[in-house]
Amino acid sequence: MEPPKGFPERTSNYLKDVGIDVSDKTVLIGGIGTLGSRIARDLARFNFKKIVLVDFDYVGPENVGYQCYHSEEVGRPKVEALAERLNKYHPWTHLEGVYMEVFTPSGLVSLSSLKEFARLVEKSDAVVTAFDTLPPRATALLLSVKFDKKYIDAGLGVTRGYVKYLKEGYCPICGKVWEEKVRYYTNPNLAEAVAALASQAVLHALSGRSWPSEISLNLEEPYRAFLASDVRNEGCPLCSGEVKKLRIEDVPEYLIKNIY
Ligand SMILES: [Zn+2]
Repeated sequence: MEPPKGFPERTSNYLKDVGIDVSDKTVLIGGIGTLGSRIARDLARFNFKKIVLVDFDYVGPENVGYQCYHSEEVGRPKVEALAERLNKYHPWTHLEGVYMEVFTPSGLVSLSSLKEFARLVEKSDAVVTAFDTLPPRATALLLSVKFDKKYIDAGLGVTRGYVKYLKEGYCPICGKVWEEKVRYYTNPNLAEAVAALASQAVLHALSGRSWPSEISLNLEEPYRAFLASDVRNEGCPLCSGEVKKLRIEDVPEYLIKNIY
């Protein structure tokens, strides 16, 4: 199918103007709920080589409109529905949906699923996590450090959201500034703004540009809605150099020892 004229050309012009080229880059998005489905939609507008969506949830009636899902997609795996629709709307970017529960030591998933996820991380240039819990983020962070990939973590509370970026001297997991309880509802405008920022972080990270280690957003405080800083932290075992030498077989034990 011939890509529709207009959008890809205009986006290419913008990317050329700012000196960003992601046409040979692959990005993995882990968790495609309220935030991740929007990040996928936002990134699909750029001409990535590939966008891989990882999730194990099905589209429910409560997701329609609130997350980026349509009513006729209820009952389908989210990865399948979203990849299919975004491939149709943005045919210049190839999206692949992988139905998979990301390995966590407390889960019931197997070593083979961990190996499969590790392969996906290894083949990507950047990993974005938007899971609603910490354990799969920890697995994704560890594998991103191991395979030397860009790693961005985004999260949403009811009124506050954040984008965190793994860089020298700073780790998104051990550098928790605040922890918001998962409530499964948020300000939809906040979800849009955090998704847009996370997508922008990916573009910058993959172009070798600087990006703050932490950005927090609170749209209920319009005069200080946006706070960006380059904080540093001590680092944790998950982002230490020793994970680079870990065999995948040893990752489950390492995670249990260091995050539980
Ligand atoms: Zn760390």
